[in-house]
Amino acid sequence: MININSPVEQLHFELFEQKKIQVFLKRDDLIHPFISGNKWRKLKYTLQDAVQKNKTHLVSFGGAYSNHLNALACAAATFGFKATAFVRGEEISNQMLALNKLWGMELIFVDRTAYKNKLELFEKHFSNDEKAYFIDEGGAGPFGAKGCEEIVTELTETYDKIFCAVGTATTLQGIAQAIKNNGLQTKAEGICVLKGAEGIDAHLKENELEDYYKIHHQFHEGGYAKTNPELLDFIKLFASKTGILLDQVYTAKMMKAVFTLAQQDYFEPNSKILCVHTGGLLGLLGVLK
Ligand SMILES: *Cc1c(COP(=O)(O)O)cnc(C)c1O
Repeated sequence: MININSPVEQLHFELFEQKKIQVFLKRDDLIHPFISGNKWRKLKYTLQDAVQKNKTHLVSFGGAYSNHLNALACAAATFGFKATAFVRGEEISNQMLALNKLWGMELIFVDRTAYKNKLELFEKHFSNDEKAYFIDEGGAGPFGAKGCEEIVTELTETYDKIFCAVGTATTLQGIAQAIKNNGLQTKAEGICVLKGAEGIDAHLKENELEDYYKIHHQFHEGGYAKTNPELLDFIKLFASKTGILLDQVYTAKMMKAVFTLAQQDYFEPNSKILCVHTGGLLGLLGVLK
């Protein structure tokens, strides 16, 4: 399996010094070059479940720039599974999809209406394939959240806040669950990268995690996968000061939000803040020129 205990590094910026806060980054982007970040964490127990159920064909879903599909395609090749992906939208080619094909993943393009009903798509194509195993978009689900609990349980220090980007809020759920299970004083704080996604945390409420997390909805920078010159400048600044790359869809929005919150004196002096670098760097292929 993949060695998962990712390192934590302190980020040194003048702003953090001025505000008397310590900010750290958990480098889940270093877990694996392609099966990186929270996508491996979400797949870990999902793949174990597939093996237990004797399933050898992983079937999942995503957009044409899905980090989850990249991670799944590479993981399937690494661990000897067959993989098929339903890709949302009309057939296109790009570098991320080309990598998926290189890892042997079959791609089935489906229009946006058909894509909405994932279980129906799975049934329609694979009801006769007893080896087929359904994995939800983004690796969402209970096994996904369980894997993300380890972001917290493998820490050797405590923090006042743990920040992560929020897409499906599966990662945030895992972090909040681990905080609850271990009786920590930490708060999980998510930066939502989707616009108008105020109901994204329904599954956290169902799991009675209200007291352990907060989602910020003002940092989506225009909506899912939307970028702007300031965001791209931030990526450049961060890379040039730290050597660490951020992707424009998730981690840059999370990190930029933490800078903005620090500027707004959101953090009490002497706070210790951990940001999770959830990986996804291949997404940069979509914007680099
Ligand atoms: C998928 C992804 C996320 C979103 O995680 P959720 O568990 O769906 O909220 C965050 N960061 C990166 C880099 C991702 O690829």
